[in-house]
Amino acid sequence: MIKIDLEKKLSRVGLRVLDFETKYIEDILDREHQIITTNKNGNKIDRFSLNINVNMPTPPKYKLERIFLELYNQNNDLEQFINAIFNPITNIRESRERLKEILLINPDLLQNKIALIDAYPNPKPNHILKKIFDYTRDREYKKSLKGISPRFKEVDFRVCIYCNRNFISNFHTKKVKRATFTLDHFYQKDKYPIFALSLYNLVPSCAVCNTNIKGTRDVEQYMNPYSSGYNFENEVHFKLMPNYKVKLVTSNPLCYKYVKDFYHNEVYETHTLEVKEFVKKREVFTDDMITKLSRITKHSESRVKAFLFGNVLYKKNLDSESLGKLKIDLANELGII
Ligand SMILES: [Zn+2]
Repeated sequence: MIKIDLEKKLSRVGLRVLDFETKYIEDILDREHQIITTNKNGNKIDRFSLNINVNMPTPPKYKLERIFLELYNQNNDLEQFINAIFNPITNIRESRERLKEILLINPDLLQNKIALIDAYPNPKPNHILKKIFDYTRDREYKKSLKGISPRFKEVDFRVCIYCNRNFISNFHTKKVKRATFTLDHFYQKDKYPIFALSLYNLVPSCAVCNTNIKGTRDVEQYMNPYSSGYNFENEVHFKLMPNYKVKLVTSNPLCYKYVKDFYHNEVYETHTLEVKEFVKKREVFTDDMITKLSRITKHSESRVKAFLFGNVLYKKNLDSESLGKLKIDLANELGII
């Protein structure tokens, strides 16, 4: 529902996008992965299918660029797929470059690559790609990729990107910073495993939206919330209905489908109380009253409105205030802003 402006979010915590991306890449590419990752029924399993001698006394450790290159050289399907979607790889340096390209692919290009993958005529080597990129399939592998979730904790994500209701902020215990967000793969990792580790395919969201609502639903038709052209919040508006209900309305058919798929209208049915409070408050605090309060408190009228109806009216940080979009739209409809 709300666009993710990573640059703005990082600047609030004193970070720059370039530094964040560099650290994200280092977290993944500078790690070495033990080739034997599980021991199933007494048999040592080579997670990456490199087919090396996994019984050797000291199991080898490889960086992802080496694993990627080896698998690319061993597997024709993978080689053809990478050559069609990206560019050929001839050495270890290019393997690292290609990985960087995949992990940091920008959201607009990501959408184009998804279309290329959908149109790819040959069998997709998804089983191999999952071994390399889908970190969620193996607990040990996930642990060895230490940076994914902690890196996102550095960003001050406060409210779920999809519903704009539930908080997804961090909290601190004595020893560690804990997160309450989940990372949703905007483009499903099962269908597009090559982007399972890609930064701009990971959307911080609440567990309800990620698991209970979106689940494995196809959303490739929608725009990635990191995209420069993402405009949902301007295309769709909450409209006040009888009995303090609200309904998201739009003239854009794709946005309408998005609203339906994410059950936005159903989910917001529970907010009748908040809507009623907002409307009643407006009945009391008319424009004249706000002008008087501004004079008495010596705060600007905008500040007074923010005190009364929510800080989002003043700061316009829709991504930081629960129900921020609802409040902005109600404020517009009731002539507050
Ligand atoms: Zn949510």
